[in-house]
Order: sequence, then structure tokens, then C-alpha cells
Amino acid sequence: MRLLLVEDDPMIGEAIRSGLRREGFAIDWVREARAAERALAAETFDLLLLDLGLPGQDGLSFLTAQRARGLALPVLILTARDAISDRVQGLDAGADDYLIKPFDIEELAARIRALLRRRAGRSAPRIEHLNVSLDPAAHRVVRDGAEVSLAPREFRLLQLLLERPGTILSRAQLEERLYGWGEEVESNAIEVHIHGLRKKLGADFILTVRGVGYRVRPS
Ligand code: CA
Repeated sequence: MRLLLVEDDPMIGEAIRSGLRREGFAIDWVREARAAERALAAETFDLLLLDLGLPGQDGLSFLTAQRARGLALPVLILTARDAISDRVQGLDAGADDYLIKPFDIEELAARIRALLRRRAGRSAPRIEHLNVSLDPAAHRVVRDGAEVSLAPREFRLLQLLLERPGTILSRAQLEERLYGWGEEVESNAIEVHIHGLRKKLGADFILTVRGVGYRVRPS
């Protein structure tokens, strides 16, 4: 899952970025609205984390403009403002949730998981498919009742495939969702992760659709 963070405070930004990376998210960080606009136009993200008090265009008017232009991503507002009117305005401008600074990274991660779950049309915290169950919060995968140990990127790749079991995802789409800016991507990285997942989950759990990409075996 790849997130875009818009935050001008260097200490808060760094704390969020490192904390969410530890939680297993790919995260890109920009300092102001113009850079966020460029990032959204160039890359695919799963969720936007938006500070309201930004230099230049403020977060609220940025969000209003982006929603008017059709931005469909879930948006979580991060704000030091504790006035009720700011939160109401933020939600009415198209935010899906908000968190007031200072907050715990654990709570932020849990709210992100809840928004991503809702976006994927699920209400249950765990994803079940065939004989495999994936728990995004606990970072656990169980196959036939036994826990399977996955590398962090294997886990994220499996989650991407399981979120939409009918969808074929190309190598490029998977790379974009698994790696943030500045992260080194080996040319065969996705194949290596798929190979690892097949060894742990069964050779036919993930199917290769020749020339197109990958999908999980239908139930
Ligand atoms: Ca700020």
C-alpha cells in the first residue's frame, strides 16, 4: 500500500514516514500542495495524508480543488487545529477521517488500515481467500491454520492481490504500489517475491497471466 504524505514540518514528517514504513507501508513525502499535485498526477497512491497548515496553498483548499477535479483517493487530514469548525470543514471538503496532532503512529496506522479496508469494500479486518487468511494489522498470514512467515514486501504484494481477487495486476502496477521514491527496485524484484510467495502458499495460489500480470487463483 502506497501513501502520499503532505506535511511541511520536518520533524513530524520524518516521524510519520519512518513510523509508517515500520508498519509496512510504502510512503512518499512532499512538503507543499504544488508538489503533492505533481505527485498525484504522476503516480498511483492508495491514500493521502494531508496536513492542513501548509506554506502556499493550505490543505483545505487543496483538498477542495482536488476533489472537484475527481480525486477519488481516501484522504486522512492531520491537523494541529483542534477547533471543531476546522474538522467539520475538512470532512465536508472531502476528507474521510482526521487525526489531531500530536497522535500515536499506531493509531494513525490503524485508521489508515480502516480507510483502505472500506475502500476495498470490506468491513472484516482479515482478508480470507481459499485456504489463506491475511491480517493487515497483525501482519500475519495463515495457510491451512498454520502461520506462514513472509518478508515485508511479500506480505504487501500478497495483500494487493488479495484485496481484489478477480483483478490482474501487472508487474509495473505492483512495483509502483510496493516501492516509494528513492527505493531501489531490482528489475526482477516482483518475480522474486512471487516465487517466494508460491513456495510458501502453494505453487498455484498465484497465477501468471501471460503478458498481462498476476492474480490469485479464483475461489
Ligand atoms: Ca503544517
